[in-house]
Amino acid sequence: MNPRYDVAILGSGVVAHTLALLLARERLRVALLRQPAPPAAGPDIRAYALNQASHALLSDLRVWPEAPAATPVRQMWVCEPGDGHPATLSLTLPDPSQPLAWIVDVPTLEQRLLQALAYQGTIEPVDHPVQAALTVVCEGKHSSTRAQYGIEYEVQAYAHTAVAARLRCARPHEGVARQWFQNGDVLALLPMDGPGGDLVALVWSVQHARAAELLALSAPAFADAVGQACGHALGAMSTEGQPAGWPLQLSRARHWVRPGVALAGDAAHAMHPLAGQGLNMGLGDVAELGRVLREREYWRSPGDWRLLRRYERARRADFDRMAALTDGLYGLFGHGDTRIQALRRWGLRAFDQLNPLKLCAIRQAQGSGPVRPAPGSL
Ligand SMILES: Cc1cc2nc3c(=O)[nH]c(=O)nc-3n(C[C@H](O)[C@H](O)[C@H](O)COP(=O)(O)OP(=O)(O)OC[C@H]3O[C@@H](n4cnc5c(N)ncnc54)[C@H](O)[C@@H]3O)c2cc1C
Repeated sequence: MNPRYDVAILGSGVVAHTLALLLARERLRVALLRQPAPPAAGPDIRAYALNQASHALLSDLRVWPEAPAATPVRQMWVCEPGDGHPATLSLTLPDPSQPLAWIVDVPTLEQRLLQALAYQGTIEPVDHPVQAALTVVCEGKHSSTRAQYGIEYEVQAYAHTAVAARLRCARPHEGVARQWFQNGDVLALLPMDGPGGDLVALVWSVQHARAAELLALSAPAFADAVGQACGHALGAMSTEGQPAGWPLQLSRARHWVRPGVALAGDAAHAMHPLAGQGLNMGLGDVAELGRVLREREYWRSPGDWRLLRRYERARRADFDRMAALTDGLYGLFGHGDTRIQALRRWGLRAFDQLNPLKLCAIRQAQGSGPVRPAPGSL
């Protein structure tokens, strides 16, 4: 007997909701198993750096947040302060019409997705598991259903927690995403509230004990600690909202598919946020699964094993590449050996002089097709 649904999606995050909208547009019968947010949970304080591929997918589904909830990044600036001789690197847009990335307010994006789901008549919200040709697990890294399908999840816990907060600054950010690497800590200030804004999203990766200390500080003391760590780059700061912490890990499921089952988003993989790529990866899963299902031979069911293996092969390769990059950077910048530190700082400065390499880095950051260099750019 044919199941009533083509696809059942488990999860209530950005990946699950985007996938539901995409598959409904492909005229698949979708059931969405949602879980109400825990009552104590407030709005997410984070902002995501999203690349061009994510921008294209979310815009196509008409859920891209409008300005000022999405701020274009026109420059990335990286610094290792060292002892008095900072090594810096800056990536500036060759073509200002193609931002390096956008910094997106998370609650606004979630709201846009919920509004779109409410208007989408072909997605059926359900509150219990249902039979479907394909079940997609998008339950995040703590997924419980993944284990029920006998899928192992390998976790390499980092010694760091990411502390996230929002800070209002005395000086405007001018669309620059700033990042400092110091003694293994990684501090990022991401521009929010539009190109002329003075609000930044902080992501500060520090040892667990230091994160606990930071989160216990009063609001002025917290803002002071951030100001000191970034050399008061944006003048005096004050916090908006309550800072929060996320213990960090590199993790991946041993299998991403089983007959009739696929994993997507953090349920399949998670990485350190220093390159801002976790959700971009998850939305890459969504786009690829949508493509595989759309282009399937008419006689294949959505849960067909060959289709799912196509999806797994494409996405696993992409994740492995990005995970190796972020894990490598985390290890490199956390290394205490003075010879490695010297080499690293030389590398940053040298990289800053190499325009072709910077162009490659821009392409990687954008997560998109060709970037055309403009004369005299970079
Ligand atoms: C500090 C920090 C900063 C980050 N910054 C960036 C960034 O700049 N750019 C970027 O691309 N990524 C970033 N990430 C990564 C990003 O947060 C994740 O990759 C993304 O949230 C994964 O989305 P998801 O939908 O797969 O999982 P989740 O966001 O974890 O959502 C899954 C949801 O499903 C729910 N759920 C669980 N079980 C069930 C069930 N049985 N039924 C229904 N629902 C269920 C869960 O409660 C949860 O709400 C960052 C991460 C951190 C920690």
